[in-house]
Amino acid sequence: MQKRILIIEDEPAIRDMVAFALGKDGMHCMPAGDAREAELAIAEQVPDLILLDWMLPGTSGLELARRLRRNESTREIPIIMLTARGEEMDRVNGLDAGVDDYVVKPFSTRELIARIKAVLRRSQGDDGSGSIVLGELRIDGAAHRVYARGEAVSIGPTEYRLLHFFMTHAERVYSRAQLLDHVWGGSVYVEERTVDVHIRRLRKLLEPWQLDVMVQTVRGTGYRFSVAP
Ligand code: CA
Repeated sequence: MQKRILIIEDEPAIRDMVAFALGKDGMHCMPAGDAREAELAIAEQVPDLILLDWMLPGTSGLELARRLRRNESTREIPIIMLTARGEEMDRVNGLDAGVDDYVVKPFSTRELIARIKAVLRRSQGDDGSGSIVLGELRIDGAAHRVYARGEAVSIGPTEYRLLHFFMTHAERVYSRAQLLDHVWGGSVYVEERTVDVHIRRLRKLLEPWQLDVMVQTVRGTGYRFSVAP
């Protein structure tokens, strides 16, 4: 199926270049010049991925990323941020806003397309063989098995679901309430501190391989699963 890529960029030359390259690669490009145009485009058709320029007139890219993450209907759409050199310092901000990857300008369209495909694969939670690989961790969705540095990990059903969610939603911060919603299905009988209990258990399971550092506490917000320590 043809992937729909929304590009939000105020420079027409970059927009056209990217649209041309995406089209040649069999993807469909939806162009937008600012946040307002982007929101109109999304309302019409939800894209598979968003390319978002950091510096936009009016609402900034970062602000828009946060807004998209707060909105139920756009929360799951992967975002690749387009940043100019020198803006990399704000990477941390971007990751907290739920951005999936970065491409620094000037970029080659070939590099951009490779990154788009990598993010799409990751967001679909599949590397083609039915398993998800993230750093030294591999989760086999069909067999319900987890491997750390190639060794099988003995894992309970809740920790498995939690890890599976994290691995398909890496590099984003989730509050306890959001994790309850996604992993426990929003059961009213489960308290938020239950999340902490299972996070502790998951860390303990990954500890022998020193992979517990992937489960990160974000103070005052919640948790994030990341390959970067
Ligand atoms: Ca710009």
